[in-house]
Amino acid sequence: MAEASRTSEARRDSVFGRWVVFSPARSRRPTDLKSHNPTNPSPDPGAEAPKPSCPFCAGRESECAPEIFRVPAPPEASPWRIRVIENLYPALRRDAEPPAPEEVPPDGEPGERAVRGFGFHDVVIETPRHDVRLWDLDAEGVRDVLLAYARRVRQLAEHPAVKYVQVFKNHGASAGASMAHSHSQMLGTPFVPPCVTTRLNCMKEVFDRSGNCSLCEIRSKDILISGTPNFSAIVPFAASYPFEIWIIPQQHISYFHEIDHDKALDLGSLLKTMLQKLSKQLNDPPFNFMIHSTPFGLSSSCLPYAHWFLQIVPQLSVIGGFEIGSGCYINPVFPEDAAKIMRELDCLT
Ligand code: AMP
Ligand code: ZN
Ligand code: ZN
Repeated sequence: MAEASRTSEARRDSVFGRWVVFSPARSRRPTDLKSHNPTNPSPDPGAEAPKPSCPFCAGRESECAPEIFRVPAPPEASPWRIRVIENLYPALRRDAEPPAPEEVPPDGEPGERAVRGFGFHDVVIETPRHDVRLWDLDAEGVRDVLLAYARRVRQLAEHPAVKYVQVFKNHGASAGASMAHSHSQMLGTPFVPPCVTTRLNCMKEVFDRSGNCSLCEIRSKDILISGTPNFSAIVPFAASYPFEIWIIPQQHISYFHEIDHDKALDLGSLLKTMLQKLSKQLNDPPFNFMIHSTPFGLSSSCLPYAHWFLQIVPQLSVIGGFEIGSGCYINPVFPEDAAKIMRELDCLT
């Protein structure tokens, strides 16, 4: 449908079960949509590295919380390419006593509950250089960041009290970033977070009704941006945010951390392209990405509808009262229009 002829429409998505109101009248043309909130803090392009005040720069390792592991660099270069470190200001503490299993029942129980703030909060420093963004790395470089995530998630999965690991990246102050140097984070929690439970319940409903996984079922070419042998990048049918992108494994796979070298290269190349396109189309917007995987130790009967994916959300508008009150989002850009713009955008220049 042509953009001009569209009227408002409400759609519900089959992964989060969220209603989204598409209201083109609430925005300028989607092609004009740009971030008014240039990424801040942002790396200083061309800045001399290391930056004097940045503990994530090479040479300032002693100012960081302890290192968990590093990906070494060739001997003539910086001593490392990627570092996974403990968060100096962790939301959950690895030295707290883990809650006993009966304190966090797997199926959850209604009502209030409090457990000690045990968990793991790690930072992944994606490059030793202050002036390099994730999508400035080559596809192999992004692959290695993804493999570092997967390696750390596998380590955390070994801990009997860790139920889920949320991998995420904040880029830009209004996306929640406090550090400009390119990095991402992960939190290993002793409970299954509510968004994960809602997602799995919603996908189960679809599976029970249709026999299909919500993500394997996606076929529409109208919302496809780009594909590789192993992954598809789409704007989801009921995207909550303008220019939201999902990168989905084409095979039904429940756990991100099982990714192998070849698939990580494929994903790295697609993620790089999508971040380049967002930066070009939307004026280097603040954004978040999140890896939506599956809780550890889930019963095998749940795996047929549990399919991991990576969600990228550019932050172009603030969440208002309607969204907070109702849990519904208003999106001025129809997914088919956003997908067409992103598909046709040449990101090599
Ligand atoms: P963000 O706030 O999303 O930019 O993530 C940066 C994270 O790095 C925050 O959660 C900080 O707590 C953490 N952090 C800041 N300084 C250090 C440091 N010197 N060593 C380890 N973690 C740090
Ligand atoms: Zn730095
Ligand atoms: Zn699937």
